[in-house]
Amino acid sequence: MELLKERIRKDGVVKEGNVLKVDSFLNHQMDITLFNEIGKEFKRRFADERIDKILTIEASGIGIAAITAQYFGVPVVFAKKAQSINLDGTILSAPVESFTHKRRYEVIVASRFLQPEEHVLIVDDFLANGCAALGLCQIVEAAHAQVAGIGVVIEKGFQQGGRVLREQGLRVESLAIVDGMDAATQTVQFRD
Ligand code: 5GP
Repeated sequence: MELLKERIRKDGVVKEGNVLKVDSFLNHQMDITLFNEIGKEFKRRFADERIDKILTIEASGIGIAAITAQYFGVPVVFAKKAQSINLDGTILSAPVESFTHKRRYEVIVASRFLQPEEHVLIVDDFLANGCAALGLCQIVEAAHAQVAGIGVVIEKGFQQGGRVLREQGLRVESLAIVDGMDAATQTVQFRD
């Protein structure tokens, strides 16, 4: 998605440790005009799939998923990162190792929000080692629902997540794939 790549080149900041900061438009301040284009692009790419629900993870995925859901006309469920007193009934959970925060946590979804046989599109801001996406896939499986696909805004192609998910036969659509980045020169190389 050319518009997104241009924006990453213009406003992305490459940090040491292979972290790309995009907090001025994607995951802190949010550019909703860009989010609309992202939503349209996910709809175009997954137009041939039955999608009943979008599943994401708090907090950065929520805005992207909410705007995207308007193009699919389906509800959004976001996995919570900690047990909340408001979560009642049966819960589904999976362990996730955070790439950016270097810690393990559980992601939790109330099982009543994922019905058996539903086709679920997983949406997130980044795909790095794939831990977050795999955790969400585990939750979908535990609900006896199906993963219709995984839509990622930025995939870091030099980390293993994309390969691991695709090797499992999952359909991964990434709107920008970063193949390399350099903090010293502030350059980002994209695939294609
Ligand atoms: P994974 O579980 O695929 O290793 O990492 C995915 C999660 O880590 C994303 O939800 C995102 O929040 C965070 N993440 C991974 N790499 C980056 C990065 O380079 N920049 C930012 N801002 N977040 C990242």
